[in-house]
Amino acid sequence: MTDLVERVLQGDVRATARLIRDIDDRTPETQEYLKELFPHTGRAFVLGITGSPGVGKSTLTDRLVAHIRERGLSVGILAVDPTSPFTGGAILGDRVRMQRHSTDENVFIRSMATRGHFGGLTQSTRGAMMVLDAMGKDIIILETVGVGQDEVDIARTADTTVITMVPGLGDEIQAIKAGILEIGDLFVVNKADREGADKTVQDLLTMLELGQATDSGRRDWIPRVLKTVAVRGEGIEALWSEIEAHREFLAQGQSEYYQSLNRRKHKLELIDLVKQSVVDSVLNKLEKTGDLEEYVDEFMARKADPYTLSEKILAKVFT
Ligand code: GDP
Repeated sequence: MTDLVERVLQGDVRATARLIRDIDDRTPETQEYLKELFPHTGRAFVLGITGSPGVGKSTLTDRLVAHIRERGLSVGILAVDPTSPFTGGAILGDRVRMQRHSTDENVFIRSMATRGHFGGLTQSTRGAMMVLDAMGKDIIILETVGVGQDEVDIARTADTTVITMVPGLGDEIQAIKAGILEIGDLFVVNKADREGADKTVQDLLTMLELGQATDSGRRDWIPRVLKTVAVRGEGIEALWSEIEAHREFLAQGQSEYYQSLNRRKHKLELIDLVKQSVVDSVLNKLEKTGDLEEYVDEFMARKADPYTLSEKILAKVFT
């Protein structure tokens, strides 16, 4: 076993930080480390906190962490937030968030930067989750912005997903329902100190009921809707109990719905990995030969259509 992996398994914070940074930078050897770590994973409970920027995800996470720590459990937090003003400055982002937990050795916080023009955020986040799981964190909180396919895919990897909203966003609920509604196990209307919280709760319930009617397999878990005032810590205890209730529901794991969901999740993960590996290997080869720019020139000059070019690229790489 490599030294780095061993240190991660012992819970070494510096080794963990290094490995996650390497994963985020997508250095090639990280895959080997992850292979070694895999047998030591599968124990952590992954909680997803998803919502638009500014709805209070960080504040809510901060409160939940305090709650979790009171129960003597350790936490790893991964913030996946491309809208963060700290672009490229993940460390600064980490410092600004959750300052009061920064000295607690049982809390590990990292931001995943959105690097790489060709995707890979989902992959690197999954890798980082695996590292936190292997280092022994009881709970992993995955904070994501609920927009874009990448983000939805990441949110989907959580065991329990909490969708966070604020009052008065009726139109937004409509807009996001397609992608987000189906992945939410719990819905939180945060900033419930503001006007319109009850109306938003009602709107959500109505929408969920409609969803329920068309998704018959899902009747065994009815998503709950809760109100919180994260800045004042209100509703956090109730939220945590609901999270635990969902966790217990998953632990029973017998329902057909759950089984198929679980299978789908694993299948997607594998397919994603294959996709990413193909993209990486193609792009690596193209980068080495420098052919890509030539193809772009041809395309721009309209000498060739993108379909033919893409076929050419694949033929070249896979022969
Ligand atoms: P994020 O972008 O979703 O992580 O949101 P933040 O946690 O950074 O919160 C955005 C802003 O909303 C901050 O100024 C918070 O203090 C504020 N905020 C968070 N929760 C509440 C709440 O329950 N009520 C009110 N009024 N403001 C809140």
